[in-house]
Amino acid sequence: ATATRKSLTIGLIPADGIGREVIPAAKDAITAVRSELPELKFVELLAGWETFTRTGTALPSETVQTLKENCDCALFGSVSSPSRKVAGYSSPIVALRKELDLYANIRPVISVRDTSGRDSAPAPSVDLIVVRENTECLYVKQEDLIQTENGKEARATRLITERASSRIGKIAFELAKARPRKLVTIIHKSNVLSVTDGLFRETVRAVPGLSNGKYDDVTIEEQLVDSAVYRLFREPQIFDVMVAPNLYGDIISDAAAALVGSLGVIPSINAGDSFVMGEPVHGSAPDIAGKGIANPVASIRSAALMLRHMGYASPADKIDKAVNDTLAPGKLLTPDLGGKASTTEVTTHIMSLIDAQY
Ligand code: ATP
Ligand code: MG
Repeated sequence: ATATRKSLTIGLIPADGIGREVIPAAKDAITAVRSELPELKFVELLAGWETFTRTGTALPSETVQTLKENCDCALFGSVSSPSRKVAGYSSPIVALRKELDLYANIRPVISVRDTSGRDSAPAPSVDLIVVRENTECLYVKQEDLIQTENGKEARATRLITERASSRIGKIAFELAKARPRKLVTIIHKSNVLSVTDGLFRETVRAVPGLSNGKYDDVTIEEQLVDSAVYRLFREPQIFDVMVAPNLYGDIISDAAAALVGSLGVIPSINAGDSFVMGEPVHGSAPDIAGKGIANPVASIRSAALMLRHMGYASPADKIDKAVNDTLAPGKLLTPDLGGKASTTEVTTHIMSLIDAQY
């Protein structure tokens, strides 16, 4: 699908806080693998809280237009959100997911194998991917509050469609097919929510391609969401690709992230059929912003994940290998992982390990 692309234009949206320190690191990592990519262009774009305070909008229309018209993909940093509701402000990342129809949130969670002596990976080795449906479920935000004789009553609509369940299921099977264990676990609660979760489960089990043998090598399992969380903490190694409706996916992906020690190492992409946006899982980290000590690994891995999703597996492998070989010895780590290294030191080292592979 990628062989025909003549150039690769990447939108960079550092936004706020440490986003401005880690997105440049991701840009450096992509630049280091440019010999395996089409002609590379970067476009810097505005969004976020700081943009809002200066211009009155958190997501300028120029940013959206440039992404849609000129970019093949993008990297998003992080936004600071105000602690109270501010008139006119809404999260640019939520708006971008909608504007670009980025219906899949994909989050690989891999242990930091650090031998520094610090217990940064309290749980057994984790190497799994959470695939979260990103557009529906309870996040359609249709809520009503009514007054009854017996007090207030609140209701929410939960939307599950065949279309959204099928396309997220397909993403899960495609990812599993490319992994050594080739296992998809469908997360649901259809013993209670037999209609909505029942439809999700049935639809994922009927993803086109399953019947004609395309995914014959992929094993399908199921877990009720409650027992999935329990097992995730007890024996995370049993999971490979977990696919879930929006709310369960939200909870499971944060729970899985908690297993590996630092938010600073966990990447994600938001993917649609025609666009993909890499985004570190962490926020703007105001407590360390501007100090030059933010861990760039989450963003660098997000860049690799984005390239892999677009079909550039070989450069993505090189970036991931350089990251793993930097983390594993436990000698060059940022403070969140118990080390003393700066963002720049870690990034420079990762780049040198990428260069060494050419
Ligand atoms: P936000 O509202 O933007 O999410 P936050 O205060 O919730 O901000 P997070 O970015 O979510 O902060 O981070 C939570 C904690 O993890 C903070 O203490 C932060 O310093 C730390 N952290 C997050 N990302 C990184 C990183 N890349 N490197 C080092 N520490 C990080
Ligand atoms: Mg946060």
